[in-house]
Amino acid sequence: MSNAPLLEVKDLRKYYEVKSFLKAPKAVKALDGVSFSLARGKTLAVVGESGCGKSTLAKTLMLIEEPTSGEVFLEGKAMSALPAADWRKSVQMIFQDPYSSLNPRKKALDIIAEPLVIAGGLSKDEIYDRARKMMQKVGLRPEFEQRYPHMFSGGQRQRLGIARALMLQPKVLICDEPVSALDVSIQAQVLNLLMDLQDEFQLSYLFISHDLSIVRHIADDVLVMYLGQIMEKGPRDRVFANPQHPYTRALLASHPDLTAMKGPRATLEGELPSPLNPPLGCPFQGRCPYVMLVCRDIRPPLYEVDGRRSACHLHAPDLKAGEASGSKPEIARRDGILTASL
Ligand code: SF4
Repeated sequence: MSNAPLLEVKDLRKYYEVKSFLKAPKAVKALDGVSFSLARGKTLAVVGESGCGKSTLAKTLMLIEEPTSGEVFLEGKAMSALPAADWRKSVQMIFQDPYSSLNPRKKALDIIAEPLVIAGGLSKDEIYDRARKMMQKVGLRPEFEQRYPHMFSGGQRQRLGIARALMLQPKVLICDEPVSALDVSIQAQVLNLLMDLQDEFQLSYLFISHDLSIVRHIADDVLVMYLGQIMEKGPRDRVFANPQHPYTRALLASHPDLTAMKGPRATLEGELPSPLNPPLGCPFQGRCPYVMLVCRDIRPPLYEVDGRRSACHLHAPDLKAGEASGSKPEIARRDGILTASL
């Protein structure tokens, strides 16, 4: 089997032009140079505050939004070169609120069967046979076949959404906050179902979530986003045990149960800057306790550090102690790794 990643996103950008009266149009950079890869059978969690670009990323991968530039590859084939129908067979999505994405006038079995009906090529018997098997697979009993979406509980509706998404046998499932609308006890059941289905079908998940305890539970790798850019990406255990980017550290600071992070736990203060007027240089500079002069003008690259990547000038090999903000002389690095004194 090829070692190529199943899904590869390269320098993806999505800019929205915003016009205003008597002023030059501005660009909102919802995604600004995002690159990552997702391996077969693995889960990559995307985390960050609302407005960080998570939803735009999902919409772009689902062909709902057209990228401004960059490319996405599935098994080496470019998204822009594949017919939309072929792409959608391989990349499907489940939503935070399945109710709004389920046709209220259709019965459960018809909803599940619909993607195959649209795709064509199979007999009705074959399609409905597969739909019944899928219903069973996601834990919906056969007597639910003729029920309408409003007759299901939230957890059952999410199972319905999952069943429908899997009917085309996709390789990648984009999970957009799939359990955040559910009770905690139901969340665990749906997450367990997703993990069982991943094992059985070797599915790859792009798992968008603001809930770090769920991410800690389900992810193999983590991508931390801020204002359309990647702040940190790497294996879950490394990111949670010793976050390297000041933004990741701030996100995790309020979850002492999830991280073994040592040192001061600066929490996240201030607001996300307006995407209409983002700062030059590092996007996190306005909220970062370690901001330096260089952060004001130059966007930090993603440095390789301690087995993951982190976009912060503190990792620059040539950073001199004197460049650090005078108010934070305790910043310490060893071989580019931020140590407990951060
Ligand atoms: Fe803070 Fe500067 Fe690093 Fe940005 S680049 S996170 S402002 S230290």
